[in-house]
Amino acid sequence: MSDNKPEVSGAEERTLNFLEEIIEEDIKSGKHGGRVLTRFPPEPNGYLHIGHAKSICLNFGLAKKYGGQTNLRFDDTNPVKEDVEYVDSIKEDVKWLGFEWANEFYASDYFEQLYLWACELIKKGKAYVDDQTQEEIRLGRGTVTVPGKESPYRNRSVEENLDLFERMKNGEFENGAKVLRAKIDMAHTNMFFRDPILYRIIHTHHHRTGDKWCIYPMYDWAHGQCDSIENITHSICTLEFDVHRPLYDWFVDTLEIFPSKQYEFARLNLTYTVMSKRKLLELVKNNYVSGWDDPRMPTICGIRRRGYTPEAIRNFAERIGVAKRDNVIDFSLLEFFVREDLNKRAERRMAVLNPLKVVITNYPEGQTEELEAVNNPEAAEAGTRMIPFGREIFIERDDFMEVAPKKYFRLAIGQEVRLRYAYFIKATDVVKDVDGNIIEVHATYDPASRGGNSPDGRKVQGTIHWVSAEHAKKVDVRLYDRLFTRQDMDNLTEDEDYKDFLNPESLKVVEALVEPDLTTKKPGDKFQFERIGYFCVDSDSTDEKIIFNRTVTLKDSWAKIAGK
Ligand code: ATP
Ligand code: MG
Repeated sequence: MSDNKPEVSGAEERTLNFLEEIIEEDIKSGKHGGRVLTRFPPEPNGYLHIGHAKSICLNFGLAKKYGGQTNLRFDDTNPVKEDVEYVDSIKEDVKWLGFEWANEFYASDYFEQLYLWACELIKKGKAYVDDQTQEEIRLGRGTVTVPGKESPYRNRSVEENLDLFERMKNGEFENGAKVLRAKIDMAHTNMFFRDPILYRIIHTHHHRTGDKWCIYPMYDWAHGQCDSIENITHSICTLEFDVHRPLYDWFVDTLEIFPSKQYEFARLNLTYTVMSKRKLLELVKNNYVSGWDDPRMPTICGIRRRGYTPEAIRNFAERIGVAKRDNVIDFSLLEFFVREDLNKRAERRMAVLNPLKVVITNYPEGQTEELEAVNNPEAAEAGTRMIPFGREIFIERDDFMEVAPKKYFRLAIGQEVRLRYAYFIKATDVVKDVDGNIIEVHATYDPASRGGNSPDGRKVQGTIHWVSAEHAKKVDVRLYDRLFTRQDMDNLTEDEDYKDFLNPESLKVVEALVEPDLTTKKPGDKFQFERIGYFCVDSDSTDEKIIFNRTVTLKDSWAKIAGK
């Protein structure tokens, strides 16, 4: 899937996806009284990425579609890797994507209840304290083909287990000295049923509960029960959790609590990028990028700074739909939606990235004038602006050749082009430096072609952009490109290091000349630089120097490369 223009379904009805089918059936059968409550459960151990955006759009989108609500729940069960910095960024990102949560909850809100349920399980003879080391437990679990071995501590009495578990909670034991395990079946065909660990001892300060707890619940013990406490009706997660589902149900059944149900969809993978939080953290820590919000990062704060819009991301998420099998989506598809959205909302401006001076020799010296330019041909309400024009202008170096080859319709000696919104000009001769490089072009203009209109019906094939030499302002432009050169970054072999595929050309900085009003813009403001691409003002801009980020080029230059 590397087409530049994917087929995008617009108005026509699409069929229901499998999650919508499930929800509609549940509503029809009156399950939960037709109520729909989903949750988005990030672990606050990193910044959200575009994969999370997919999950957010799905959870919030489904609830909204069926008149329901969505909770934001921080899965803060591992104090070692978690931090409030991440909590704050996650909230900002969800809001930016355009969603409002019904409640903000934390798994740590439920630590007391989870502890009580663990005691209940012990009393039912279904959990025990195990003194084996992590390694012994791992080895004892067996393999898919070999049943596990029962722990020598498996048959402790209920009283002993309750006592030990309480003492674990009270901080009497070192990290790793003991764990609480469910007592299920060491020969179960589903490895997750082989006496899963419910609690481990971690003597670490927690960003919310402080030093109150030193035992922390494992994912399997926490997740379903948190869903249940909140009365979540549809707990949607990614495919790798399907093997956990039977255990999710087992805990819900055994504890006889609200029967939340888990459903799995395929996680989003994108070409040319990595999405594991571990790798993203490593890129930040080792300064391969400037931070979590480096515009090359697939993080939500990164793509926001890059100039992507929430609308584009929501449209993208909708278009890729939900799959039951893992797949990789072409980065170009995301960019397609970014272009499509910016085309509607970004005002046009002219900017010259690689300037070549053109002197219009028959234009009166000292004269300047203002010409009217359309701000956005896709949005009449954006109006027009006046742009200054004078005897000396800059055009792109690429837009001039001394001798025009066939099908080169831009400026050349003897060849006429239209200056966008200005005049027809024709090059007459060039000035070269001692090395033979062209440093200036001389041209003449036709005063009757003002506004770029043909005075006598004669046609010019090319239209080029320009800026007035006297009025143009200098800005820095950061030309961002893919962070990795390799398409299938999720497919590396064990001895391949993802860092070896970092794109050395992923950032180039050039000084550009732009229309004067662009220096008055604010971080986040978005523009189409005509014929070049979409750009936005970066937050590093100062009063002295405005910096623009390239959000996306106008055309997809990677489609060809990817096709190879
Ligand atoms: P990582 O494994 O990189 O740490 P994670 O999946 O553990 O990421 P969480 O914070 O636990 O990150 O994820 C919160 C929610 O977002 C989960 O429901 C998870 O399934 C979903 N999610 C994470 N990555 C993706 C992805 N690439 N595509 C779709 N959903 C995702
Ligand atoms: Mg996780």
